[in-house]
Amino acid sequence: MPTYKPEECIYDKTYTCPVCQEVFKAKQIRKGRAKFVSNDDDLKPNYTPIQPDYYDVILCNHCGYAAISSKFETITLSQQEAVEKNITPQYVKQDYSDLYDVDTAIDRYNQALKNCDVKKSKIGEKSYIHLKLAWLYRDKNDISKEIEHLKIAYDGFNEAFTTEKLPICGLDENTLLYILAAIGIKIGYEEEGIRILSRLIVKKDLSSRFKEKISALKDKIKS
Ligand SMILES: [Zn+2]
Repeated sequence: MPTYKPEECIYDKTYTCPVCQEVFKAKQIRKGRAKFVSNDDDLKPNYTPIQPDYYDVILCNHCGYAAISSKFETITLSQQEAVEKNITPQYVKQDYSDLYDVDTAIDRYNQALKNCDVKKSKIGEKSYIHLKLAWLYRDKNDISKEIEHLKIAYDGFNEAFTTEKLPICGLDENTLLYILAAIGIKIGYEEEGIRILSRLIVKKDLSSRFKEKISALKDKIKS
């Protein structure tokens, strides 16, 4: 596989803002250019030479509406009005460089989170953004901020399990259970983490690779 420079991995994608109807461009990742390197225990993906997660929030620089890409188009009329009333008047236009660094990504995810509050989004979507923020702070080596966001994501996903239909932001039940166990362990809930993994490993619809991952994580906790 050829190696690409970071700037060769992005392109301008055109969007129409569902709130203010302005047409704008946002950076997106070119297919097949970023190379997968590894997953952390909680499935945080690591790529080279660019992190696709950094580009997953679509932000309209005219009105301040922002959301993760899979949710960007999905907005009701009353949510649209709420964004116009509570986001747009305070929004200060940002001048991000073409390549997003970790701080730019944090800024964009925070703007998406602000929009979630105003839109009264489901807890699952908010938890997903907190998980991503935790991963961004991990890239910055800011452990206390990472743990803070992991805790919010953990509680939120637990609540979402009983109140929402799965998948949540593309995460199916098994993946979400695995992430819950892994972040639970990270924030000090080892027993709960092991309990979730034991419940997960006996499920019939798992690939052998996924089962190996679960066993590996269980062994890691015990040692
Ligand atoms: Zn807009």
